Amino acid sequence: MKAIRRFTVRPVLPEPLRPLSDLARNLRWSWHPETRELFHAIAPAGRRRAGLDPVRLLSTVSAERLAELAGDRRFLRRLAAAADDLQDYLTGQRWYQSAQQSGRDGRLPEAVAYFSPEFGITAALPQYSGGLGILAGDHLKAASDLGVPLIGVGLLYRHGYFRQSLSREGWQQEHYPVLDPNELPLDLLREADGTPAQVALALPGGRQLRSLVWVARVGRVPLLLLDSDVEENAPGERDVTDRLYGGGSEHRLLQEMLLGIGGVRAVRTYCRLTGHAAPEVFHTNEGHAGFLGLERIRELADAGREGGPGTAGGPVGLDFDGALETVRAGTVFTTHTPVPAGIDRFDRELVARHFGEAAELPGIDVERILALGLETYPGGEPNCFNMAVMGLRLAQRANGVSTLHGRVSREMFAGLWPGFDPEDVPIVSVTNGVHAPTWVAPEVFRLGARQIGPGRTEDALSVGDSRRWSAVADIPDADVWDLRRVLREQLVEEVRRRLHVSWRQRGAGAAELGWIEGVLDPDVLTIGFARRVPSYKRLTLMLRDRDRLMELLLHPERPLQIVVAGKAHPADDGGKRLVQELVRFADDPRVRQRLVFLPDYGMAMAQKLYPGCDVWLNNPLRPLEACGTSGMKAALNGCLNLSVLDGWWDEWYEPDFGWSIPTADGHATDENRRDELEANALYELLEQRVAPRFYDRDADGVPQRWVEMVRQTLVNLGPKVLAGRMVREYVERLYAPAARAQRALTPQAATELAAWKARVRAAWPQVAVDHVETGALVVDRAEPAGVPGGPPNGSAELGATLALRVRVTLGQLAPDDVEVQVVSGRVDESDRITDATTVPLKPTGGPDLEGRWLYEGPLALDRTGSFGYTVRVLPAHRLLASAAEMGLLAVPSEATGEEAGVLMR
Ligand SMILES: *Cc1c(COP(=O)(O)O)cnc(C)c1O
Repeated sequence: MKAIRRFTVRPVLPEPLRPLSDLARNLRWSWHPETRELFHAIAPAGRRRAGLDPVRLLSTVSAERLAELAGDRRFLRRLAAAADDLQDYLTGQRWYQSAQQSGRDGRLPEAVAYFSPEFGITAALPQYSGGLGILAGDHLKAASDLGVPLIGVGLLYRHGYFRQSLSREGWQQEHYPVLDPNELPLDLLREADGTPAQVALALPGGRQLRSLVWVARVGRVPLLLLDSDVEENAPGERDVTDRLYGGGSEHRLLQEMLLGIGGVRAVRTYCRLTGHAAPEVFHTNEGHAGFLGLERIRELADAGREGGPGTAGGPVGLDFDGALETVRAGTVFTTHTPVPAGIDRFDRELVARHFGEAAELPGIDVERILALGLETYPGGEPNCFNMAVMGLRLAQRANGVSTLHGRVSREMFAGLWPGFDPEDVPIVSVTNGVHAPTWVAPEVFRLGARQIGPGRTEDALSVGDSRRWSAVADIPDADVWDLRRVLREQLVEEVRRRLHVSWRQRGAGAAELGWIEGVLDPDVLTIGFARRVPSYKRLTLMLRDRDRLMELLLHPERPLQIVVAGKAHPADDGGKRLVQELVRFADDPRVRQRLVFLPDYGMAMAQKLYPGCDVWLNNPLRPLEACGTSGMKAALNGCLNLSVLDGWWDEWYEPDFGWSIPTADGHATDENRRDELEANALYELLEQRVAPRFYDRDADGVPQRWVEMVRQTLVNLGPKVLAGRMVREYVERLYAPAARAQRALTPQAATELAAWKARVRAAWPQVAVDHVETGALVVDRAEPAGVPGGPPNGSAELGATLALRVRVTLGQLAPDDVEVQVVSGRVDESDRITDATTVPLKPTGGPDLEGRWLYEGPLALDRTGSFGYTVRVLPAHRLLASAAEMGLLAVPSEATGEEAGVLMR
């Protein structure tokens, strides 16, 4: 019979075991080995295999077992030590507190709010679909380790993302198990009187979308998760947070309104109830949470109207433009994908309907809201509301997630800064990292700890102290190799276990499955490939030439084995066909012991998979992988990378760390041809380079050159790929400047800045570079001075200096409002300046009778070869974060350009 109601009855822990409750409810257990071991010791031996979930464990362990533990002095001592350690971790001084005291970066933000549509923290809290969420989880954990006062904000999806299994035919099946928040490591945020705190959004037609706020403790960092499954909501509204990335456009819009607008309200409620400092910086992980900026504009505008203090304790009395400036100053936007399908775009009308008088943010003119997101630039869809575009317009600081992705993003979004070269587009990059304590296998950690001491290993892993890392270099070859064998063996067992479960689900009887005992071999070169299955990641590239692949797998002396996993988005039948193709190949009795597909890729599987592989394979279509992080996690466990030079690998690849698959990017426009070229290159590498090195053994059976690569990977690549390094970069390069910018914007400054921008924008059409002349050519040596006007298309000598004189019209503007710059450098065949140096010119006179100003300055010919320069005028104000911020620029017209863009060859 089906129950009509469901309760969670929480266990009463015997008094001596009370500290277990705090340990279970703080997710630090998920990356703290001693706490994990403590919980493992509670579980009856037979039940220890499945992923650890302390909350669930405590609610299922028998009263007898608890009584037994309550009397076990050794256990109680360990418990006390773990509880003390957690207390120290939560309250001690960490990197951020020292940085704050040193004053190196000015006063750091009191708090930062970090918004993301998904968070992957542990398999026990399945609220992620892939890389974006796991990165967000790693960001919170690293922030916690560093002591960064972050508040995470997300949604609680009642079904999370789907669980994947396979049909007999290898077709992906999706399941959505219900998650009961009472059984998850979450606490309900409550008002002082004990009633659950709620935040509400106004929807069209007088409806309301209410939500509860659950709090997960991620070490020192609270993570607020909004949950619309509230009895007072109408059924449609209850389902807003039903699942991750499901539903149609309107459903998605409501999720994003709840995340952004509701999220800010949840943060305010949390700070009010707990006394947590109000965030000075808001960071949005991808565009999905972008509406948070609108809610903050509303707050500032309302505070002004009421004449009361700002909700954030911030500026008061602002109109839309002043509020927009304030919000921009304190907002950081991270873009994560160059793939258009990864960016949310809504129909203009749909957005318009959800804002304004009868819906949300009634105080703000809907047209102003729309103007922030519509693709009103060359090449855009003017009726399309684009969340990434809004993200960029609402944030003064933005970044991509690897050096290459930064470059690709600057090109991709260049339309928002018309007239500027992509290099000038104000999007920087912070390369992603991964949280080592989460992703390093306990066995690897122990070997490191033996070498450099346990506490120091923790520091090295979380903070990235590279002196500590170098000690890994002294671990003997044989120990490294033994460790690799142990990890591979564990993976083999895990694969067999999972494969067995999968085949039972596919309808096979136990008697048919004897062959699974022979699947994979703990001494064979093991390659891993696991990721989501969007087409650009090319799950099936390895199947391009099946005979060739089969030969590699079954090679008599140098065989290899491959473990593959990945989920296709439920609406992506193309992706599901790729999964099926792979599964069918893996089902072939000739290869099934060498190539396996494991369903239901997730964190629990990933934690076993990365350490157990010798080689991590990645073959995306360059440059569509913004960063990629699985290869970093593999590297931290001594796995070598074999990848197309995309994302992070493009930046940090070295022959010591693995192999680069040559890419036909830019050469083969035909996709089919490109796949063929790259697949061949992959086979070639595996056969000629990877396998021979793995099987080249010394007298003791150790592949010395392989082990040397493992060592180089650990020592030299390891410290770079850490989330601790990433979060420190965010703090120093983005959060600290954003906090300074937002503090500088007192209400008065914000109003002035907004007014100045409006004035500059209105006056800009009159701004022009009228005339550029080069004065005498000054040469170091006593040579005859050059002809006035310089050497048009002539030649000049290194070390010479030209005197530039530029006349510009500023119209209603004054020299204080602008900067006139000379931009010079090497030029390519199409006369584009490639490595620009920018030097400001000084105003020396004017305005003349025609209102023109004279600017002068030297131009040093400091490079040999083809050299060129041009002159440009930009708005200038001390509160702008970049010269391109306003997207305004004046350059010499074609005619003037002939004089200005002088080239010397
Ligand atoms: C790290 C990770 C990802 C992201 O991997 P990419 O290299 O970015 O594709 C996806 N899923 C899981 C479970 C992960 O651990």
